[in-house]
Amino acid sequence: VCDFEPGAIVSDACASYSTLDGLNEALSPFVTKITQDTDFFSHYRLNLFNKKCPFWDDENGMCGNIACAVNTLDNEEDIPLVWRAQELGKLEGPRAKHPGKKVREVLNEKPLHGHLGENVEESCVVESDDECDDRDYCIPEDERADAKGDYVSLVDNPERFTGYAGPGAQQVWEAIYRENCFSKGSPEVVVQTPGSSGSSLGGFAAQDLRQALKEQGVKQGIQSAIAHGSGSARVDPIEFDDTCLEKRVFHRVISGMHASISTHLCHDYLNQTTGEWGPNLACYESRLHSHPDRVSNLYFNYALVLRAVGKVRQHIQNYSFCSADPTQDSKTKNLVLNLAANVPSAAEIFDETTMFADPSVIDLKEDFRNRFRNVSRIMDCVGCDKCRLWGKVQTAGYGAALKVLFEFDESNSENDPPLRRTELVALVNTLDRLSHSLKAIKSFRHMIEERDGLA
Ligand code: FAD
Repeated sequence: VCDFEPGAIVSDACASYSTLDGLNEALSPFVTKITQDTDFFSHYRLNLFNKKCPFWDDENGMCGNIACAVNTLDNEEDIPLVWRAQELGKLEGPRAKHPGKKVREVLNEKPLHGHLGENVEESCVVESDDECDDRDYCIPEDERADAKGDYVSLVDNPERFTGYAGPGAQQVWEAIYRENCFSKGSPEVVVQTPGSSGSSLGGFAAQDLRQALKEQGVKQGIQSAIAHGSGSARVDPIEFDDTCLEKRVFHRVISGMHASISTHLCHDYLNQTTGEWGPNLACYESRLHSHPDRVSNLYFNYALVLRAVGKVRQHIQNYSFCSADPTQDSKTKNLVLNLAANVPSAAEIFDETTMFADPSVIDLKEDFRNRFRNVSRIMDCVGCDKCRLWGKVQTAGYGAALKVLFEFDESNSENDPPLRRTELVALVNTLDRLSHSLKAIKSFRHMIEERDGLA
């Protein structure tokens, strides 16, 4: 088991927290409106029940609580137009494949759009089962009309306390954190190829990676420039010890996601004595308040995902939301553009250019991607349907954020890989989850101050 526990707390925590809190105050109404009020972003299509855990037999870890259940949309008429099979079916065509690097060159000469139905842009193109572009950080949730998939309203299935706990949940978290053992702890790092269903097709000794890290010798921290009230920007480098930046970031993303899940379950907790739902301060204190690094990682994720949402702005300009309803389509687009336009620049929130900057760490980048794909596969081992739903949405969201941060080029977007509908929906919903978490933490802090007579 990986024993890596970073003390990576933003050096000037109050300034950065308050700045990000301020941003969140300003932006959360946009995010809420998009995720609650648009059909496109309030629904998700995923394979929730039919994928077996590829790593171990998960029969014992299943959660039987009613709170673990997910209501799926089984009737065609309950599914919003933009997500209906016929609409997704329109995307299928003889060439309706993900234009990977090589295919794209061909596409540039011969536009594909004509094959896909009216108003369907490249970004709506869907892929065959589990087919990954080599720039993907996540296993794609299949959108094909003929693929097995479940339609879910994210609004009707809120992320909250489910009672899923014990060895099953622990095993999943352990497996997720084990993916972080880049250089110590695990004798061999298993990297699975897409669709390998658990068999170890690729693997390399951790020593190779240790060597790579040594050669790379990265010691600088991520440059998280935090804008201050005055409008001027200041760079807060996070001082790292002898671990490399990329490895740190990997851990922070995972730990921040875990912290956000914990925040939601503590904030929307079921009091089993009264049967009422509400915040549970003791839960927050033990899982988050007493672990400032976890809170710090959560804020870190907010900055990272927010930056990614700002960076897709260009992409969204030409994005077709695949709706048969043009009014709805343009309303959705305007809402997302409005949000993206209000996200501060990279220099003010999160500067991703310090990562994977050195050509000698190309292999490390691939490793990072493979590890993240493994985390997304581990989600099929979560024994609680609702936790699995939100676990999948959020890993897909972080996967999309990492793809946007590290594979998109703002100054030359022509070669950017396409973003699938599920990636975009997951990205914005992950931002929404983080935004809720920041608010919940603020409210928990206030409760503590009141209790302790400090308010
Ligand atoms: P856990 O949260 O299970 O943590 C296990 C160990 O990990 C801890 O002992 C600690 O050492 C370490 N740890 C904890 N937090 C962090 C962190 N932020 N960073 C680094 N290390 C950490 N339950 C719900 O009620 N609702 C949900 O929606 C939900 N979704 C889940 C989604 C997934 C993908 C998984 C795996 C579990 C989910 N659960 C959910 C269960 C929940 O996360 C906990 O596992 C459960 O509440 C038991 O908590 P615990 O106190 O045993 O510690």
